[in-house]
Amino acid sequence: MTAPIDPRQFFKPNPQTGVLKALDHEAFTLRIATIGFILRSAIDLLGAGALAVLREAGRKAGAGTYAIIAKQQPSTNQELLFLLIEGDALAGWGRYRFEHLDHERKEATIVVENSFVADAIGSYPQPVCAFLAGYFEGFFSALWQCSVTCEEEVCKATGAPHCRFRLSS
Ligand SMILES: [Zn+2]
Repeated sequence: MTAPIDPRQFFKPNPQTGVLKALDHEAFTLRIATIGFILRSAIDLLGAGALAVLREAGRKAGAGTYAIIAKQQPSTNQELLFLLIEGDALAGWGRYRFEHLDHERKEATIVVENSFVADAIGSYPQPVCAFLAGYFEGFFSALWQCSVTCEEEVCKATGAPHCRFRLSS
């Protein structure tokens, strides 16, 4: 197993300019409570429409993350996914684990422990991690060079111990 990414290489704060970089791309941090206010307000005001917006934003973010990781020139899909998993875990997005992964058939099942979306929103009657579902769609559509759809089957926000996403093409 490859060693985790060194946070000092991943995150580069610059207090003089107030710019934080993650893998050489401008980033910033939010408390989970703060992103929770944003997501909750969007859902309360817009209902299901908010989840559609978050899914679309997630798709763009996932495609962008793929491009950033691909620029690191990982030599295998395993190394590429290692960078995805470890980078996002370092950023506090949660811990991804593949229950199933088939690059040939272009399908996967991803368990996410401590989804930042579910933790931010808290208790909710239906799966809420639309941003992450879109994120995986964008990332794996770019990786597999086809249109990938992702459904969140189980969500921590509904009381499950973790979130689980099924990807298919
Ligand atoms: Zn979830």
